[in-house]
Amino acid sequence: MSEVVRVRTDRERCVGAGQCVLLAPAVFDQGRDGRVVLLTRATTAVEEVEEAVDLCPAQAIGLGGESRRVGG
Ligand code: SF4
Repeated sequence: MSEVVRVRTDRERCVGAGQCVLLAPAVFDQGRDGRVVLLTRATTAVEEVEEAVDLCPAQAIGLGGESRRVGG
């Protein structure tokens, strides 16, 4: 069973540091302007995304309130 978390990003805040892309490349990418591009709004890569939230220098990543468990 895997937990799914919802992910939010704020491109206005993003400073293009790229920490999120290094930590969770299946969830985050960087656009031509260097700012974050969200590849999926829900993911099971919970630990990676939580770490990205902690390490993002711009507080540009958030976890949505809703989470659920899938699979079994
Ligand atoms: S870690 Fe934060 S500031 Fe850096 S690219 Fe990702 S969202 Fe933007």
